[in-house]
Amino acid sequence: MNTQGDLGARALHVLETVFGYSSFRGEQADIVDVVARGGDALVLMPTGGGKSLCYQIPSLLRDGVGVVVSPLIALMQDQVDALAEVGVRAAFLNSTQSFDEALQIERRLRGGDLDLLYVAPERLMTSRCLALLESAKIALFAIDEAHCVSQWGHDFRPEYIQLSVLHERFPQVPRIALTATADSQTREEIIHRLQLEDARMFVSSFDRPNIRYQIVEKANGRKQLLDFIQSEHAGDAGVVYCLSRKKVEETAEFLNEHGLNALAYHAGMETAVRSRNQARFLREEGIVMVATIAFGMGIDKPDVRFVAHLDLPKSIEGYYQETGRAGRDGLPASAWMAYGLQDVVQQRRMIDESEAGETFKRVQSAKLDAMLGLCETLHCRRTRLLDYFGQSSLPCGNCDTCISPPGAYDATVDVQKLLSTIYRVDQRFGAMHVLDVLRGVDSEKIRQRGHEQLSTFGIGSDRSEAEWRAILRQVIALGLVSVDHEAFGVLKLADAARPVLKGGERVQLRVYQKPVKARRTSGKP
Ligand code: ADP
Ligand code: ZN
Repeated sequence: MNTQGDLGARALHVLETVFGYSSFRGEQADIVDVVARGGDALVLMPTGGGKSLCYQIPSLLRDGVGVVVSPLIALMQDQVDALAEVGVRAAFLNSTQSFDEALQIERRLRGGDLDLLYVAPERLMTSRCLALLESAKIALFAIDEAHCVSQWGHDFRPEYIQLSVLHERFPQVPRIALTATADSQTREEIIHRLQLEDARMFVSSFDRPNIRYQIVEKANGRKQLLDFIQSEHAGDAGVVYCLSRKKVEETAEFLNEHGLNALAYHAGMETAVRSRNQARFLREEGIVMVATIAFGMGIDKPDVRFVAHLDLPKSIEGYYQETGRAGRDGLPASAWMAYGLQDVVQQRRMIDESEAGETFKRVQSAKLDAMLGLCETLHCRRTRLLDYFGQSSLPCGNCDTCISPPGAYDATVDVQKLLSTIYRVDQRFGAMHVLDVLRGVDSEKIRQRGHEQLSTFGIGSDRSEAEWRAILRQVIALGLVSVDHEAFGVLKLADAARPVLKGGERVQLRVYQKPVKARRTSGKP
């Protein structure tokens, strides 16, 4: 490497001659500078922001090999191939290799024949690997997906905790930790657990101004999705996320029946079919990929015009990461979601039923609450989203709540009617029955139980079932009512319901808007 000239000029030279780019993006130049000089850095940058160059270039500028810790074993081969193509000597060590293959890499490492080495964390922590690294010259350690160290994060990996060993065993080697998850809790945990107290922190903006956020009330999700695609994104490439494999397949079939070019992707499919579908999505134009969240990691397709969710994501991090796959090219794109009562109930149930410990459940539940807050907000979605990542912003003008602000109303009386009905049926019935009693429906179950005698029978007949479902959904999201899954979805009053029932506390809810056909929206944000 050219050792002449100052570091900045050398970095730019590598950027141009090796990677073929003419200028650094955002804070890349500063990050490269800090790390190339031997300093530690913590980089919080959204997906697609260009994190890789932040460690690849310093690895090339410094003596020795840059060691990249990454949990994404499936992507290592691609990364190494891409680097080989531009003449960078890269390799990886993980469990997919044979012993002989690994041995060969180890030999190259000792011989100083590598610029970059990708290692899975569980592999790195073996005594064999640590000893190997001690026998080589290390340029830096890059800890990719650093949020995996956080229990608060959505994909906690116990092996990541042990990465603090790197600092103890190689105190003179600079470290750079990178992640696209930036809520303050995760940030604190990364700093603390990886001992990065002295690292320079680089926080990029998480705003994706070209993405228009829309969250609609779910009626018939699939039909709404079809309307949305046909009216706003006909012929465009997009991704539709569903929770279950079955729903992925059904949705892909439904879209195909209606003339779209849809493919399915989930972990239960044959590998060959899955890879073929992925390759077609990347290569062909206008394909709609219907997938579980297994799809998307490391997929770099710039012209995805929309990402749609037919089920509620577990957290804002997940939502942000998934929607972030839209509009990487900077052109207008949409993030669309249909969300309803069933989503809230289902997500709460998944948390309740999980085998995880109490702490984990509490964390998941807090994350779900934040996600629900985003769905139910009466204000700008983007402001809410960025606020979650610790970034303040003004109303954006490019989300559904900015474009047509949802009205709010004092729903105290409605909520009281609902809460008292739950109370009157002794907190022993699910949503369907409660809403029937409230609306004064003449059903056999009601007559059997004598519920037509209750004082609340029919007090909600002024509203439709859909309206009451929307109210119930918000009331559950607000934590006034809980759903007991061990008892078949029985609705129970939470402690927070008391002051509302007693009349001391008022509740604001969204004005109900009938789900309407998506209308065509103008192109530019
Ligand atoms: P991240 O890891 O943050 O998701 P990547 O490092 O994969 O992002 O980069 C995303 C895309 O942006 C890649 O296609 C990469 O080649 C491109 N890229 C990164 N930095 C630059 C730059 N300075 N100029 C042009 N393209 C860049
Ligand atoms: Zn907005």
